[in-house]
Amino acid sequence: MSTLITGASAIVGGRLAQPVLAGDSILVKGGKIDRIGFAADVAREPHDSTIDVANAVIIPGLIDPHTHPVLGDFTPRQNTLGWVTAHLNGGVTTLISAGETHWPGRRRTPIGAKSIAMAAAQSSLDLRPGGAKLHGGAILIEPGLSSADFDDMERAGVRLVGEIGLGTSIDADRIRGPIEEARARGWTIPLHVGGASVPGSHVVSGDLVVELNPDVVSHANGGPTARPFAEILRVIEGTTVAIEVVQAGNTRALVRIVEHLNREGLLSRLQFGTDSPSGTGVMPLGILRTIAYATAFAGVDPVAALCCASGEVAARYRLDAGVIEAGRPADLVVLDVPLGGQGGTALDSFVNGDIPSVALVMVDGEVVVQPSRVTPPPRHPPIVSGGC
Ligand SMILES: [Zn+2]
Repeated sequence: MSTLITGASAIVGGRLAQPVLAGDSILVKGGKIDRIGFAADVAREPHDSTIDVANAVIIPGLIDPHTHPVLGDFTPRQNTLGWVTAHLNGGVTTLISAGETHWPGRRRTPIGAKSIAMAAAQSSLDLRPGGAKLHGGAILIEPGLSSADFDDMERAGVRLVGEIGLGTSIDADRIRGPIEEARARGWTIPLHVGGASVPGSHVVSGDLVVELNPDVVSHANGGPTARPFAEILRVIEGTTVAIEVVQAGNTRALVRIVEHLNREGLLSRLQFGTDSPSGTGVMPLGILRTIAYATAFAGVDPVAALCCASGEVAARYRLDAGVIEAGRPADLVVLDVPLGGQGGTALDSFVNGDIPSVALVMVDGEVVVQPSRVTPPPRHPPIVSGGC
């Protein structure tokens, strides 16, 4: 099965080092990206079907690295079914768990935390809600988790650490052992920084970042309560960790943090998440909306912001996703100006503060969304011929 996607006004590559690719067409074969280039060359290759995107922008499937799933497409936090599929309709093809915090009766013990992470990881291994790739099962670190516990978790498919700060202890000396176990296995370490979130969580200051040296500062703009800006600045300037801002955080802090990173040439450290489902809600458009904030309020180039939400975060979490490149999974999103919107392309929509229209989503070469049920309709719907 092969599909030619053609007629793009721009193709966003996904990495800040190569943000825009030369060409207007992508050939997809067997679920993978085969070739990228101009129609005059690429269209000569045999293909079963064609998608004309009518001047829209093609981007890699977006990644939300800060979600709180429980099992599959159900979350008890908002009594909601179908939230992962709704995210997919918002252009997010990959969701990463930052911890199954909403698990009913979550036990804050080594065996409790380990059991939940293993069950959630097992559940998400073969599950594709709506077609989305959900990486569930993130261990919420508890003092006393042993090397043997990590062996068990690894066998069950656990590859993620939940945001540190949601377990019983934030005493660096008591949680350093399990954190180093996870780090040695190549698992990415996020640290919750900010005021307390759900009942039973802690206020975590920026000082712990320096002590524990995580890979990511989760919701530097608060989840949902922000720490003082001077403290966040000390973290940005005193470390090299990735700085995440989330839709469910403090919007004023988000704008100040992103402005600072942009001004200082530190966009390679910027990460966007939703921190959902949470008390703020289920937010299918959370990633697109956060990109619009970064672009319209903090002056970030929209292509760079899209890279921060795709290839850059995939590299940080060691995932084969988020990049448009030959041989990669064909997880692609077609963005257009929303019907009635201003500007020539979806990139102008972001600059204008609008949420673009998600005209089509493809996962592993298969069209799973057309059009989105959560964005406005596109100015020019893609034309599919040949059936794919
Ligand atoms: Zn969170």
